[in-house]
Amino acid sequence: MNYVILDMEWDSAYHKLHKRFVNQILQIGAVKLDEKFNLIDIFDVTIKSPISKRVSRRFTELTGITKEMMLDGISLSDAVEKYNNWLGSDTVTITWSNSDLYTIAENEKYLLDGQRFKIDKYLDLQVFIQGELRLLGHEIKSQISLGGAAELLGITTDNYDLHTAKDDSLLCAALLKKHYNEAAFGKLIRDTADPDFYKQLYFKPYYISSINDDRIQKETHVFHCEKCEGKLRRNNKWKYHNNWFSANFICPDCGKKYVCRVSYRQTYDKLVVRRRIMEPKVKTQEVGDDAVQPVSATV
Ligand SMILES: [Zn+2]
Repeated sequence: MNYVILDMEWDSAYHKLHKRFVNQILQIGAVKLDEKFNLIDIFDVTIKSPISKRVSRRFTELTGITKEMMLDGISLSDAVEKYNNWLGSDTVTITWSNSDLYTIAENEKYLLDGQRFKIDKYLDLQVFIQGELRLLGHEIKSQISLGGAAELLGITTDNYDLHTAKDDSLLCAALLKKHYNEAAFGKLIRDTADPDFYKQLYFKPYYISSINDDRIQKETHVFHCEKCEGKLRRNNKWKYHNNWFSANFICPDCGKKYVCRVSYRQTYDKLVVRRRIMEPKVKTQEVGDDAVQPVSATV
């Protein structure tokens, strides 16, 4: 089995026929690695836009690819054919975050005539490296950039021309070689032939906005007193705001008041429940609310 780390640079351009902007791929860079992550081969092509005679200034600033370089490139169709032949069989395709997969799908839909990028097995390197960083004790909240991850892992990026497809791929390879962990890595390899793969890719997570939703288990919005551990009684109806349900609670045993919040985020394969228990802010209005709100038994 070989590994190919794929990186692409794309620029948005208006597609007159489809009357929409398309993230057209203008550069494909990839490195092929053997099972021990030694470099076997490099793929690097620049592509002539099928829909535009220019590139955005931001794109040139970021990637170093000028209008002249783009116009001098090969066609997208030729690039994909060349890439697919180069990829070979029994290969795991690796990208830094799955955003490249969305762009590939967009290019297949709007710029290619039935032609597809060959991706058999797939792994999201960003997910893997973020997992390794967490194991090392780093707190990773949002998606980390490739350069940011390299810095945290002590890999110098001085010798890489970041945001060029080839060098981004080479940097990915350096990260992988240094921090490979067989068990965690193997678990993340996905088969794109599995019907769930693309279903999951296009699934948009969302928050549940009705507390009576069948997927919500009632014990997830039961709270206990932090002082005496008694089961709290809810004093008003759940309010839904900014993805969170919140309500006022009181402990029937010790009389302590709380504001409790809970949110339910539906992802492709699970319902993520988050809970908060807080003391009410000392505000005359809130005390007033408590006083006038009837005790509600409805869930
Ligand atoms: Zn209590």
